[in-house]
Amino acid sequence: PTKALQELDAAHHWHPFSDMKSLNQEGSRVITHADGIWLTDSEGNRILDGMAGLWCVQVGHGRKEIADAVYKQMNELSYYNTFFKTTHPPAIALSEKLAKLAPDHINRVFYCSSGSEANDTVFRMVRTYWDKMGKPDKKVIIGRWNGYHGSTLAGTSLGGMKGMHQQGGLPVPGVHHIDQPYWFGEGHEMSPEEFGVFAARKLEEAIDEIGEDKVAAFIAEPIQGAGGVIIPPETYWPEIRRILDERDILFVSDEVICGFGRLGEWFGSTHYGMKPDLMPIAKGLTSGYLPMGGVMVSDRVAEGLMLSGEEFYHGYTYSGHPACAAAALANLEIIEREGLVERVKTDIGPYLKERWLKLGDHPLIGEARMTGLVGALELVPDKKNPHRPFKDVGTAGTICRDISFGNGMVMRAVRDSLIISPPLVLTHEEADILVKTAEKTLDETYQVLKR
Ligand code: PLP
Repeated sequence: PTKALQELDAAHHWHPFSDMKSLNQEGSRVITHADGIWLTDSEGNRILDGMAGLWCVQVGHGRKEIADAVYKQMNELSYYNTFFKTTHPPAIALSEKLAKLAPDHINRVFYCSSGSEANDTVFRMVRTYWDKMGKPDKKVIIGRWNGYHGSTLAGTSLGGMKGMHQQGGLPVPGVHHIDQPYWFGEGHEMSPEEFGVFAARKLEEAIDEIGEDKVAAFIAEPIQGAGGVIIPPETYWPEIRRILDERDILFVSDEVICGFGRLGEWFGSTHYGMKPDLMPIAKGLTSGYLPMGGVMVSDRVAEGLMLSGEEFYHGYTYSGHPACAAAALANLEIIEREGLVERVKTDIGPYLKERWLKLGDHPLIGEARMTGLVGALELVPDKKNPHRPFKDVGTAGTICRDISFGNGMVMRAVRDSLIISPPLVLTHEEADILVKTAEKTLDETYQVLKR
């Protein structure tokens, strides 16, 4: 029974990113099954998973093919490490596959178990790379305010979530943050095109201030996900590319959300014509069926660091875990066979976007935006004055998110915006249900907020 499960959960289970005092009073929702884009809870309700779990279930839930591949692998070799001159077939096959999918200049991967670990790995890789290049002063890594790169010490530090920094006295030294390219919230006094260039030049200013000889890398998500689906103006990435091309600084494209088809390309940086030196990956790599992450490494970094003739003292017990690699291979096989990346670009992506953007006409919405299959709705108190935020930031978003759940759909609230990132297998009919449910949710939220 749900109540008994909730009580046990409240007694012993500390959930990530949760105020446990109020959560325990309300009781958690207990999800028991999932199939395709649909979740089922312990009361038998069906809920549309508008977030693909945590932006990760690209191929939808319940794909037996992945479970079978993991079962088979576990019966053959359930675990062995990849330290000390050993390897195994699933890690070999997955590495080859990833190298084929990545841009031409990226041919190698270092494995871990999550996006956070991937970014911890990045942190040490870029600094060690510059040591090897005889430039040990190049230590500073530039991230962006409101970026999210995970919850480990390096991940939290590289990210720009101020609330996270406050807990634990972060960031660690040698990390610098620049403003995000958030036109709707911070740049609307300029045109989006002007603001894109303006926001990108924050990077140039920061590098010039710190000194090019001290800056090791710039890390960014192609589209900031957890920060609120911040889709940069079209002028942003070309200007960043110019700035990086003119300077000797590594570019790290955090592909944990934007990779594996989310933006209609295998990697989000390809969508924006960027050429990363390093790409942290996770989530969509296995569609979340088993935990796995990695850092994809360009030939430049491989030659300078990996093949330097000295050991990189870094690794995880589960680096390249055979069962996780088998899950990743089966997942990538489904993505390829069903043409899901192309589908996002030319079919379901444009189909959903057309309908999603129309929600921008709703009296509660200041802006609706979407690229690929990731989108946001900005809730505003006064549509005539759309860039003015709610006084009590976050309340309207939370109300709307909870109403959405009650209406049978998961959307995520970030401040006062509502986010979706559905599985890439979403059908046209399901997209229609998604948009209708969002519309109903907005109507009901509008009524609640008017009271
Ligand atoms: N990087 C990005 C862009 C993310 O969105 C996330 C998680 O949401 C991470 C890194 C951290 O990944 P994980 O939760 O697997 O550690």
